[in-house]
Amino acid sequence: MFLDSPIKISFWYIHCQIIKEESTTMTTHFFPLNNVIQDYAWGSYTSLTELFDMPNPDNKPQAEIWMGAHPNGCSKIAVEGNETLLSNFIGTDMAAILGADTAATFGELPYLFKVLCAEKALSVQVHPSKAQAEAGFAKEEAAGIPLSASFRNYKDPNHKPELVFALTPYTAMNGFRDFSEILGFFHQLNISELSALVAELEANQTEQGLSAFFGALLSLEGEVKEACVNKLLAFADANQDDELFALLLTLATQYPGDIGLFSPLILNTLTLNPGDAMFLDACTPHAYIKGTGLEIMANSDNVLRAGLTPKHMDVPELISCTRCVPMPKDEILLAPVVEATRSTTLFRYRISNSAFTVQRQTKH
Ligand SMILES: [Zn+2]
Repeated sequence: MFLDSPIKISFWYIHCQIIKEESTTMTTHFFPLNNVIQDYAWGSYTSLTELFDMPNPDNKPQAEIWMGAHPNGCSKIAVEGNETLLSNFIGTDMAAILGADTAATFGELPYLFKVLCAEKALSVQVHPSKAQAEAGFAKEEAAGIPLSASFRNYKDPNHKPELVFALTPYTAMNGFRDFSEILGFFHQLNISELSALVAELEANQTEQGLSAFFGALLSLEGEVKEACVNKLLAFADANQDDELFALLLTLATQYPGDIGLFSPLILNTLTLNPGDAMFLDACTPHAYIKGTGLEIMANSDNVLRAGLTPKHMDVPELISCTRCVPMPKDEILLAPVVEATRSTTLFRYRISNSAFTVQRQTKH
């Protein structure tokens, strides 16, 4: 999946073309992967069993299968009968296994492939650009903030473009709605505590205006925040025939009192059909709400949160990393390039400014 890399991860298997510098021959190997399953609380208990017949003997949430060489969940492969970490195997001859360019540029397998099974929503989040991640990581390193600190924003100096491919109906948020939609919802809500903010956005329908609105909303605290969320839920309760407000009530059972409950009214909210794919760009707020999908991303852990989370939120840092411009709805889903041969059809999802691509092949 990495464009310049001969290593390819297919489902459960790693397909590896090993190129030795001293010879012109190329050897191709298939190694079955033994993958880590992360049991995050929001994960589904049943999706992996239903889709892939994978057991769940411990009856734990099965949130994510990780396929790759990330230190927090490295796959294992059997090499000549001995099980070894994929990262150790790559380390035995990185240039031959990853390709010389990839080894020199990244020094590691530069992407991580996941099966993600969301039963509950994950936090609304933004990933920084490469330049923002480098600057933020350097600043926190210089300040001596431990990598494990709960308030640490930058775990590494990398950006984290993500692509998700739906295996089941997959509900998510991605990018800002049009100004007219956002204003329409907030006019409908008519929450007195927010009327000044809404009037400012109405008068300033620009990137700066949306940035100020989003930042101020996420910064609400105490009684004002509580009153706003309560009024939002009262409105949703009275309008639960509407899919969007029904969704909002479901989110409120998962994250009661959370300021992120306003996010479906600010961000594009959609359900992908199985087979649909979308790209989550840097600096763009997004959230996964429910469903199972394949996800590929750069090897990074940098997440700035914007609600639907009990975890640390750094609103000024989040806002500085967010491009507050609406994302047109017809640009959310990725249209694959389709190449058909007599026996197969290849769907290629290529994303600009990204180190990876994804392709799907079907046989006739
Ligand atoms: Zn993300």
